[in-house]
Amino acid sequence: MAVLVTGGAGYIGSHTCVELINAGIDIVIVDNFYNCKKSSIDRIRALVDRDFKYYECDIRDKEGMDKIFKAEKIDSVIHFAGLKAVGESVEKPLEYFDNNVNGTLVLLDVMRANGCKKIVFSSSATVYGMNNISPLTEDMPVGGVTNPYGRTKYMIECILQDLYTSDNSWSICLLRYFNPIGAHKSGTMGEDPNGIPNNLMPFITQVAIGKRDHLNVFGNDYATHDGTGIRDYIHVVDLALGHVKAVQKVEKDEGCFIYNLGTGKGYSVLDVVNAFEKASGVTIPFEIQPRRAGDIAICYSDPAKALRELGWKAERGLEEMCEDSWRWQSQNPNGYPD
Ligand code: NAD
Ligand code: UDP
Repeated sequence: MAVLVTGGAGYIGSHTCVELINAGIDIVIVDNFYNCKKSSIDRIRALVDRDFKYYECDIRDKEGMDKIFKAEKIDSVIHFAGLKAVGESVEKPLEYFDNNVNGTLVLLDVMRANGCKKIVFSSSATVYGMNNISPLTEDMPVGGVTNPYGRTKYMIECILQDLYTSDNSWSICLLRYFNPIGAHKSGTMGEDPNGIPNNLMPFITQVAIGKRDHLNVFGNDYATHDGTGIRDYIHVVDLALGHVKAVQKVEKDEGCFIYNLGTGKGYSVLDVVNAFEKASGVTIPFEIQPRRAGDIAICYSDPAKALRELGWKAERGLEEMCEDSWRWQSQNPNGYPD
């Protein structure tokens, strides 16, 4: 029996595939390669001692997905596939709702038709919205989202909860990620954004290799120790290991479970810049800019529930996240090869 990993060739998916195989779990990857290169599959292969299959297929392609379920023995699904750029989602809401929400509906329909009722879903801390005070716990109200991307995550959470209510034989795990950064220790896998990075760490690493001349820091007038925004950065390998625990949970227990995957510690933008400079030995020039629309001052998790119920805890600190991000970027200045 295998775990079907949708979006398994992407940033978080590829790291998760390596840790699933390391844990002795068979995988099958489905990706349409819209936001990643095929060479990421070769990089996964080079790190593991067991082969796996991958399919180039869009999750919205019902017939194509059905064929995969018929050809493989799929026991459960980890569902990463989706579009994730907040700014782009404001420009292209229909594309985001189609890819993320409609894509998930097609996937669930095909799963049900093939008797597969176990799914782990990539949600986000963004569902907590603007009004909850950190540390964020899973029982806080969600849905006060500020952009179409966040709304797709919230809507999919609602769909999965309604699905469980309608049929208690489903096992569903909603994982709310905080800010994944870092890369595989080997330096062969990491984050490879298209165009100008939206997120902090890939922007910093591109400044460090000379692709961009400075970092723009969005706001230094927040009520934080240095005025810049605070987030809960989590090493992508810790996040990947959280998925191994989550898939074991849905294999074992029926229910609809929600977990934060974060470290529980908040760092400011300037804390990250300082830690990166220390880890890399490279100075990161920056300019203070106005606040970015939709940003909140402080966002970090209470990760206690994941420890209690999954036995999972993030082990890697900010220094290691910065060292690993830098190793990946400096060894692969242009990201994955074509
Ligand atoms: P990513 O873009 O690297 O990976 C997503 C993968 O899904 C890509 O390889 C892409 O080609 C594939 N994909 C997209 N639409 C598809 C479709 N219709 N059919 C098949 N494949 C498709 O992104 P990531 O950072 O690895 O994120 C994975 C998931 O985690 C996403 O759902 C994202 O919204 C969620 N998430 C990410 C973050 C983050 O900061 N990276 C935070 C919270 C949640
Ligand atoms: N940020 C920044 N400059 C950038 C990108 C991000 O100052 O080029 C800040 C952003 O305002 C936030 C933090 O870094 O306080 C993390 O932003 P990111 O986009 O990585 O993740 P988010 O928490 O917004 O999902």
